[in-house]
Amino acid sequence: MLIIGGPCAVESKEQLESVVSVIKDNVHAFRAGAFKPRTRHSDFQGLGVAGLEIIKQVSTKYSLPSVSEIVSIESIADFYDVDYLQIGARNMQNYELLKAVGKMRKVVILKRGFANTVDEFIASANYLVEFGAKEVILCERGIRTISDSSRFTLDLSCITKIHNETDFKIIVDPSHAGGTQDQVRPLALAAVAAGADGLIIETHNQPQNALSDANQQILPADFNQLIAECWQVYDVVHNGYNQ
Ligand code: PEP
Ligand code: MN
Repeated sequence: MLIIGGPCAVESKEQLESVVSVIKDNVHAFRAGAFKPRTRHSDFQGLGVAGLEIIKQVSTKYSLPSVSEIVSIESIADFYDVDYLQIGARNMQNYELLKAVGKMRKVVILKRGFANTVDEFIASANYLVEFGAKEVILCERGIRTISDSSRFTLDLSCITKIHNETDFKIIVDPSHAGGTQDQVRPLALAAVAAGADGLIIETHNQPQNALSDANQQILPADFNQLIAECWQVYDVVHNGYNQ
């Protein structure tokens, strides 16, 4: 599995380091948003280019690849030092952005739009491939349904459909789907049981004080514990249960 963890947003160098230093041995890459697509203009919009600079420094210091969301074509030049480019749910069908990011020839993590079918999700991934992306990794992060049990509804059956119909890897984001701390563990374990190729989970050193997505970020120590449990589930699913 591809394991990615980190805060919703980079808020300061100290904040990012306090997370990455604790989870570094359990992740393949760390995540941190510098440009945040927020529903309300009055909410924290991210540190922007200054945030990307912090991400680069932390990536170098811990020799760990970075993941960060790119929201506009204008900022492409600023993103070449980011290892995995994230395209967020709200931009899954921003075709001009998909074309421009594809041309960067980098690894892209494409999140599913919360009102999009799996066919539309795959079609958007094909834009990235067609325009030159080195690799595209899909990410299921929950969709809008009538259910009010969580922030979004995690569509775990998309994993099998995507595996059956494409060669794309599909990772799962239980944080944005669940929307609260207590939903993250069950959804992460269920995702691994359903065959996910990886996880991307939000973790913050002080979740209650986070500038974005404060309700769903878990502590780095809890993240480490959860990832260990996920590998146990992975072992049972992929290697069988031995008494
Ligand atoms: C995020 O990863 O912080 C994010 C904004 O995700 P999504 O695009 O899935 O809402
Ligand atoms: Mn977030």
